[in-house]
Amino acid sequence: ESVANIIAAGEVVENPASMIKELLENSLDANSTYIKIEVKSGGRYVKINDNGDGMDEEDLLLSVERHATSKISTKEDLYNLFTYGFRGEALSSIGAVSKMTISSKKENIENGNLVAITGGKITNLKECSMGKGTEIEIKELFFNTPARLKFLRKANTEYGNIKDIVIREALSNPEVSIVLVIENKEVFRTSGRGMENAILDIFGRNTLKNLKKFKYGYLGNISLVKSNKDSIYIFVNGRPVKSKIVEKAILDGYYTKLMKGKYPFALIFLKLDPKTIDINVHPSKKIVKFEDEENIYNLILEEINLILKEDEE
Ligand code: ADP
Ligand code: MG
Repeated sequence: ESVANIIAAGEVVENPASMIKELLENSLDANSTYIKIEVKSGGRYVKINDNGDGMDEEDLLLSVERHATSKISTKEDLYNLFTYGFRGEALSSIGAVSKMTISSKKENIENGNLVAITGGKITNLKECSMGKGTEIEIKELFFNTPARLKFLRKANTEYGNIKDIVIREALSNPEVSIVLVIENKEVFRTSGRGMENAILDIFGRNTLKNLKKFKYGYLGNISLVKSNKDSIYIFVNGRPVKSKIVEKAILDGYYTKLMKGKYPFALIFLKLDPKTIDINVHPSKKIVKFEDEENIYNLILEEINLILKEDEE
């Protein structure tokens, strides 16, 4: 593996949470209805299983070779890689900075195939017996990139970031059953039976009971729903995003009810013309900007004022 490859890979796989987001999105793209994520060692160990379409041997080799073959052969490509957010580079990049095994099987093929990669080199390729779907196991993430390794945070901080990302993906895919296990403990398991069940499975009965449905999603009762500063979940056209203006609308809407140390709990789902939104595709977070930020702010604030007033009457 060339130095350039490893450096570029370190940029794509910024931290365990952003890596898990890429893996989850791959499983979702493969039409999985069940996805299980297991994490240990502060995120340096990750195993993800899905029951999706799977890959045959040829797909499997392609999925990890991509990086080395086309995209990074010229300086221009490298530049594009940085600007366009590393599309098609997740698996090869993860393979470059870890010890990774991918096993996968398609529906009507007798056996699955397994490929093992260490620091970007294929160390094993063989048939294996398994059900339809894909299993990816990542060990010793960043074992060959000491700088990245040094920037890993305390295990609990990494776990918190992972939990946050998986929750957001689970809420944007409530028809898929998603299980998160950290240090052998099940954090949550959604049933794949719709949004309200997903809310129940992730946040518990008390939260579900104390939510109010409104035009743009759900708002939590400020004194009854457990929340923290990350309890505003925003989805635009079904994808989890961050938006300062939406957060501000919610905070301003709750203004009179916000006592010190209290945060609103809100799930906001917006459907907008893609032409009117600009998503800054940073590898780890998707920060969205709207063509008319003031209009979005006003629309949401108005609805929140309406709903919270209803509450008082
Ligand atoms: P991208 O998703 O942008 O194509 P990735 O590096 O994330 O790039 O994945 C490379 C390819 O590997 C995907 O295009 C897909 O064909 C295949 N792949 C990755 N993960 C899975 C999965 N869980 N199930 C089936 N195919 C997968
Ligand atoms: Mg991908």
